[in-house]
Amino acid sequence: MKTRGVPERVHLVGVGGMHLSGIARILVAWGHRVTGSDLRLSPLTEQLAALGVTVLEGHKAENVGDAQLVITTSAAKDDNPELIEARQRGILVLKRHEFVAKLMEGRHAICVAGTHGKTTTTGLIAAMLVRAGRSPTYLVGGEVRDLGTNAAPGEGKELVVEADEFDRAFLAYHPDLAVVTNVEPDHLDIYGSFDEYARCFAQFMTQVPPDGLLIACADSPTVRELLAQTKPSARVETYALEQPADWQAGDVETLPDGGHAFTARHRGEEIGRFTIALAGLHNVANGLAGIAAGHALGVPVGTMRQTLAAYSGARRRFELVGEAAGVTVMDDYAHHPTEVAATVAAARERFAGRRLIAVFQPHTYSRTAYLLDGFRTCFRDLDELLVLATYAAREPESAGMDAQQLAYMIEAPRARYVATFEEAAQAALELLRPSDVFFTIGAGDVDAVGPLVLERLQSRPAAGSMVQGFPGYEALIRSLGKITSVRLSEPLSRRTTFGVGGPADIYVVAENADQLAAIVIACREHKAPVFVLGSGSNILAGDGGIRGVVIDNRAKAISGPLPDEGGALRFRAESGASFAGVARTLARQGYAGLEWASGIPGTLGGAVVYNAGAYGGCLADVLRSVRIVNGTGAAKELPAGDLELVYRGSAFTRGQFRDRVVLAAEFVVWQGDAGALTQRVHELDSKRLAAQPRGRNAGSIFKNPPGHPAWKLIDEVGLRGHRIGDAQISDKHCNFFINAGHARAADVKALIDLARSRVRERFGIELELEIGLVGEGFDG
Ligand SMILES: Cc1cc2nc3c(=O)[nH]c(=O)nc-3n(C[C@H](O)[C@H](O)[C@H](O)COP(=O)(O)OP(=O)(O)OC[C@H]3O[C@@H](n4cnc5c(N)ncnc54)[C@H](O)[C@@H]3O)c2cc1C
Repeated sequence: MKTRGVPERVHLVGVGGMHLSGIARILVAWGHRVTGSDLRLSPLTEQLAALGVTVLEGHKAENVGDAQLVITTSAAKDDNPELIEARQRGILVLKRHEFVAKLMEGRHAICVAGTHGKTTTTGLIAAMLVRAGRSPTYLVGGEVRDLGTNAAPGEGKELVVEADEFDRAFLAYHPDLAVVTNVEPDHLDIYGSFDEYARCFAQFMTQVPPDGLLIACADSPTVRELLAQTKPSARVETYALEQPADWQAGDVETLPDGGHAFTARHRGEEIGRFTIALAGLHNVANGLAGIAAGHALGVPVGTMRQTLAAYSGARRRFELVGEAAGVTVMDDYAHHPTEVAATVAAARERFAGRRLIAVFQPHTYSRTAYLLDGFRTCFRDLDELLVLATYAAREPESAGMDAQQLAYMIEAPRARYVATFEEAAQAALELLRPSDVFFTIGAGDVDAVGPLVLERLQSRPAAGSMVQGFPGYEALIRSLGKITSVRLSEPLSRRTTFGVGGPADIYVVAENADQLAAIVIACREHKAPVFVLGSGSNILAGDGGIRGVVIDNRAKAISGPLPDEGGALRFRAESGASFAGVARTLARQGYAGLEWASGIPGTLGGAVVYNAGAYGGCLADVLRSVRIVNGTGAAKELPAGDLELVYRGSAFTRGQFRDRVVLAAEFVVWQGDAGALTQRVHELDSKRLAAQPRGRNAGSIFKNPPGHPAWKLIDEVGLRGHRIGDAQISDKHCNFFINAGHARAADVKALIDLARSRVRERFGIELELEIGLVGEGFDG
């Protein structure tokens, strides 16, 4: 027995499933030798392999190897060769829920069950405990974006588990705290009837021990009935948005981004006002369930509020896949009519006024048949619907109804059947117009369609782009195509550290300084506007994108040292080189003078433009000269003095060098001690880590006015943690604004305006932007 009563060698049958992959993650983190097999390899099994799990494709007796314990998915049949082998050799075989039940022994088990919302709610409770520093162990049935995983081991006593009802798995658990979100007909292929399904939920409720707590949603009629009939021995607390309940969400307000603000009350007493960024009222209910659980677990209200405000939910739940040519592509896991209707309603709220087009993939033939009535009407609020061939999971077609029949039966909108991903993507492209929202919906593999659609949309010109109306556009693209590859309508949200920004009309990559110069010259010849993008770490790109040509600068050659005056040494680097990368390499090699820059993201070109600096140093201290290509297309060397570098500014930021592009820069350093310099870099790394928040951001938003750190002014006007849409002022460092989900540039700009006006009113100080606002979509 290696740890916690689990033997050292464990083999998992069906390791690519969400639940088993979570168990594999935990076991491998505990130091067990873990192997796992599955029919097909997948991105999930690749992740497991990277963590140290030996992943085997296909099921064969020899895969069991020297395992001392075999854990199997419920989906594996008794004739699976690995299970036969393990049983013949007398190796202990446990279904995954039997194993999880063993893990619960001696821990404080928290289980979330219910037909819908259990992944979101389980992830939320786990995230609250993580934020509260309680180090829980958790196993969620989906990847939780905030946690970056579906499962992790912790040192604390809490074990948070999504208690799913497939194969009656949840009946193996006797949790100390259980949440039941709702009960509606599902999995009737396994249960035979809704009565039996509901009876099992009733049993689950009674399995909470008398000193435990059952939190149940009173908005669900079946949950209410089951509570009345079963009289669980545990203490019961109900929650609801509509019905009388112990926990209630009042004054619910829909926020512009589709999220909600609400006041949580416990038996009439106000606990606090919360916001949840997830769209749909069902997520207010999930949030309230999380608050009720967090309250019982002693999580401070402030921690719950922060977790909820930042919570971006599980992957594949109302997830942004990308944007191209003015179309937003989303993905959702809904596979039950109630879930589909909730997703469509949330989409209507979040994307008000835009056309909604979806491809739905039914999940199993049997579910399609027994939930047909719901499926006929749940898509009603969509503008267009495609129905993709059924994801059969483990079923033969004879088990129910196929997708083609379903498409015919759906009442509204008129649905079109598509047999393959390819057909689905083609059909979607025929329908999609700029400003539409395209959803892939279903629990199978329909999410593969979104990236296909995006890829094709990228080669479409953006709405209102200069490309359509620009007479020389084709000739320009031909010229650029001779230098490098050309993409149209590339979303800048992928190219900026904020993760925000609409499309670049024309997007090209420069791999070296010669290519960079050649591209700039070609654009000048065709009179096309040029924007040079470094790492996108100091800009906020507008939601309307950037008109003209965006050059992604990846010219990064570095040469030196050459002797300079007074014993100094000169290095030269192309402008797309990573500034921090150059600083670190030089420190490691024993050259002093740039250590302060070892944590500044961005390229050398961006650093020149902003005279980047930190910890008492700035580029002006070491910059000797720059090579630029000017407005006429000629390249020349300029002494650093000509740039008139000041605190986070230069002739570039003041507009004097509007037409110029930095190709390379030369700077001076000195011989130093590699050990001491590396040590200094480590110290600065720790300082930065302690002071700055993680997540998508663009560093400091404002310059520090003389004598007044900008973060302090923003803090003092009460904006710490303030959120507009998915843009949030960091609660760790108020001069950092974070993209906490799907922030738009307009949200960030609204926060900027708010901070500026509050600071102006209170202190009479005008905050000046450090970042650049570029492209279209900013009013005023
Ligand atoms: C987490 C974080 C921490 C940060 N910490 C610091 C810090 O401590 N100190 C600091 O000074 N900054 C900091 N920044 C801001 C940023 O990293 C720097 O300003 C950086 O130098 C910007 O470089 P970039 O390549 O990302 O520029 P981008 O954001 O890509 O571009 C900025 C501007 O420069 C122009 N530009 C870029 N390359 C060229 C070129 N070759 N020729 C002409 N114009 C060009 C662009 O067109 C744009 O207008 C931080 C940012 C983040 C995200």
